[in-house]
Amino acid sequence: QGKLIAAEHGIPHIATGDMLRAAMTAGTPLGRAVRPIYDAGQLVPDDLMIELIRERLSENDAREGFVLDGFPRTTVQAEALDETLDHLGRPLSVVLEFQLPEELAVERLRRRAADEGRADDTEAAIRTRLELYHEQTEPLIEHYGALGLLRRVDGAGTPDQVFAAVMDALAVPA
Ligand code: AMP
Repeated sequence: QGKLIAAEHGIPHIATGDMLRAAMTAGTPLGRAVRPIYDAGQLVPDDLMIELIRERLSENDAREGFVLDGFPRTTVQAEALDETLDHLGRPLSVVLEFQLPEELAVERLRRRAADEGRADDTEAAIRTRLELYHEQTEPLIEHYGALGLLRRVDGAGTPDQVFAAVMDALAVPA
């Protein structure tokens, strides 16, 4: 969905998971440092992620807008992001919350494990990632709700149905 939204608006899709996978494939120091954390489904430390996203957002192609995917995942990251974007004079316009039953999320991750063989789609890593979502990321719903930025999207349908729901959510005036 992140890719589709970015393509629709002609802006970059900035996905922290993709950035980490690229660093691991290239064997950079960052990639080597994060691999065990990534494989276990744990969260990479906030300071590393904040540095990575600050650098990325300062690139030229992000000046006309961007889609952030997979970031922020913690309150510390969200606060650092608010500060960075304040500084750049480019506040977030909207935050999307995709809602779906947990069993369906697990089923999709298992299917992805079969299709793509992602190292962090093992049963144990999936469990850890969902626990960390509830513990660390879910509180951001309140953070962005309080800022009036949150739009909820039903994530349970087919990719086309979910994209249609995203377009509807983005069309609602602020
Ligand atoms: P994703 O592709 O977004 O599912 O991310 C895959 C993995 O990359 C996560 O399970 C984490 O190990 C790591 N990761 C990606 N984004 C973040 C983030 N914002 N904070 C911490 N770890 C992250």
